[in-house]
Amino acid sequence: MKDYTCLLEELKINGNFRQFPEVTHSGKWIEKEGHRMLNLSSNDYLGLATRQDLRATFMEQLADTDLPFSSSSSRLLTGNFAIYKDLEKLISERFGRESALLFNSGYHANTGILPALADKQTLIIADKLVHASIIDGILLSGAPFTRYKHNDYEQLERLLAKASGQYEQVIIVTESVFSMDGDVADLPHLVALKKKYKDTLLYVDEAHAIGVYGSDGLGIAEEQHCIGDIDLLVGTFGKALASMGAYLLCSRVIRDYLINTMRPLIFSTALPPVQIAWSRFLFEKLPDFSSERRQLFRKSRKLSEKLNGKGGEISNSHIIPFIIGENEACIQKALELQRKGFYCLPVRPPTVPKGTSRIRFSLTANITDEEINELIMLL
Ligand SMILES: *Cc1c(COP(=O)(O)O)cnc(C)c1O
Repeated sequence: MKDYTCLLEELKINGNFRQFPEVTHSGKWIEKEGHRMLNLSSNDYLGLATRQDLRATFMEQLADTDLPFSSSSSRLLTGNFAIYKDLEKLISERFGRESALLFNSGYHANTGILPALADKQTLIIADKLVHASIIDGILLSGAPFTRYKHNDYEQLERLLAKASGQYEQVIIVTESVFSMDGDVADLPHLVALKKKYKDTLLYVDEAHAIGVYGSDGLGIAEEQHCIGDIDLLVGTFGKALASMGAYLLCSRVIRDYLINTMRPLIFSTALPPVQIAWSRFLFEKLPDFSSERRQLFRKSRKLSEKLNGKGGEISNSHIIPFIIGENEACIQKALELQRKGFYCLPVRPPTVPKGTSRIRFSLTANITDEEINELIMLL
């Protein structure tokens, strides 16, 4: 028998033991053991999850509908409510793409799409720093795969050239805003590469960018003017969009194929229609949040400039790493900032490479200038 107690002890010795934090929330604040802190670890980038006004308006509208709190089934059986199609139509129109498909979460999307589309004749080439859910999707697909150094498009091109003619197709996989470094992919460069090497598809995960970038909040693909050129454009509702679920923009053919083959879509109960209605309510309003986007960007630049040389210079977004190095020092620094009223968390291996343990600041639009200044003073 495996000795799990002993394995847990090992995690503790290495400073890698994890527990659910016991916290309570009130708006942008988080409370732990009676101590109130500004939440600097949230993905509620636009501050929408804490907006009582939006919630009140939504609840009023909801009262006039008979949308249930459960779909009671997969969409392929009896769970296909009209609201799913409404949201897919809204999303595909906004992006100006042929079709959209909804999923229960980003994790479902990333562990389902690649296994459905890729097989032994498909080579997957992914950025070294893609999210764990993408890695799981790649492994589940059973397809041959390789990774290029983070944002190193010269190495990517060498891999593409080498693969040319060897496979039925190649899928390049990247995030747009990277979750641990907060830097941003050059999507037009990736589009140019995928066009240069035929039978190549581009898969982009915008989990941290949807809502936050682009003049209508449609993400880095909007900001970098290449929405129409990304074959598989994924985004999630759980972060800036203050809801739950994920979407894919793709061709009609790919959409139909996924409905027929994608296991997390077929074998899981669809999200509650009420939840989809809330996603739709907020997605529809995305263009209205440009002042939140501007605020967030301005404050992010302020903090990243302050952390120049300590990790801040890597970031080009609202996610800003403060790299400390060793686990224990990183934990101590995070605890110190928490004592001083800033709820930030240490990120350790295996989430980030060994020796790069860091505090990951994740800013939201409702943090004030005074609060940012106070944080900067402490750093
Ligand atoms: C958060 C995240 C996901 C997972 O999305 P969920 O909806 O939380 O399951 C997927 N990809 C990336 C890049 C993420 O940051």
